[in-house]
Amino acid sequence: MSRFLHERYRSMEAYTPGEQPQDMEYIKLNTNESPYQPSPEVIAAVSHEEVEKLRLYPDPECKELRDALANRFGAKRENIFVSNGSDDILNFAFMAFAGLGGSVTFPEISYGFYQVFAELHGINFRAVPLKQDFSIDIAEYTKNDSMVVIANPNAPTGLMLSKDEVETILKSNPDHVVLIDEAYIDFGGTSCASLVERYDNLLVVQTFSKSRSLAGGRLGFAIANSEMIKDLEKIKYSTNPYSINRLTLLAGTAAIASDGYFMDKCKEIVETREYTKEELKKSGFTVTDSFANFLFVKKDGISGEEVYRKLRENGILVRHFTKESICDYNRVTVGTREQMETFLQVIRKICEV
Ligand code: PMP
Repeated sequence: MSRFLHERYRSMEAYTPGEQPQDMEYIKLNTNESPYQPSPEVIAAVSHEEVEKLRLYPDPECKELRDALANRFGAKRENIFVSNGSDDILNFAFMAFAGLGGSVTFPEISYGFYQVFAELHGINFRAVPLKQDFSIDIAEYTKNDSMVVIANPNAPTGLMLSKDEVETILKSNPDHVVLIDEAYIDFGGTSCASLVERYDNLLVVQTFSKSRSLAGGRLGFAIANSEMIKDLEKIKYSTNPYSINRLTLLAGTAAIASDGYFMDKCKEIVETREYTKEELKKSGFTVTDSFANFLFVKKDGISGEEVYRKLRENGILVRHFTKESICDYNRVTVGTREQMETFLQVIRKICEV
């Protein structure tokens, strides 16, 4: 830390992204990326000619992409916001709808970035513990006293609130934004996007990083009431109006045009998830009922840290979290069926089952 860093950021802890090691080839099951390539349409869209056009700025309004998304979700362009990954959108939303001195409530075990954004912007936060079974206690989110942020499905548990439960939270917080982070919604969950028409306090955030194989393209989107979208635009235009580069705009638009390809891949991932889950259970592992592209796994008698370390020694990367209530577990991204067969073999050997 230099002596120039502002006092406000000195004690703040930044988000730690999952490791991306370059030393050897791992089976990478640690950052919830898709194991599948983007569709042929996406690959074709990022052509040589388009690379040549990189001398020009991209469309700051992202009209084509927003129209494609609006069409896909039965909404209008004015209901769609896009930016550089959903992290960017979450950051803007924390800034816009809680802000310095504001307050936000989110689950204690959830996406680690929520707390980082709260600290970054000087927002008071209430991190609500999960219930014993890792489910979210919705009564804790019905107080109408702060912005609410919930990942649905939640990460790293994979558990899901029903649309009715989300509606209860929306109804009980009419004066605060309820942000539903649907990063993992395409793996068998039910989206709340259609509730936007009825609730002006709902902000649904999704990403192209998981179900659309574009983690490296950095593209996220939000669906909400047009006034809320304008607020997000205001923040974006006050930081970086060109937050999405030309190539990613093209890739994203092509991804929506080839939606069938991606949704088929999601189905495959769900099938592989369920297969892996059943195999793990047969071998005595505890596994949550995940609606996401990852499994949350533990084995009695061996620490989560040891499993993580031994998997790594065997060339398999998973994500381990050190928080006490979940440190026995590892989060395992669902890869291809082949990758998961290897994972099963190795984890059974490590845990001697
Ligand atoms: N929300 C959740 C719950 C996530 O797990 C992630 C991925 N780390 C994100 C948002 C951010 O995704 P991206 O910025 O790649 O769109």
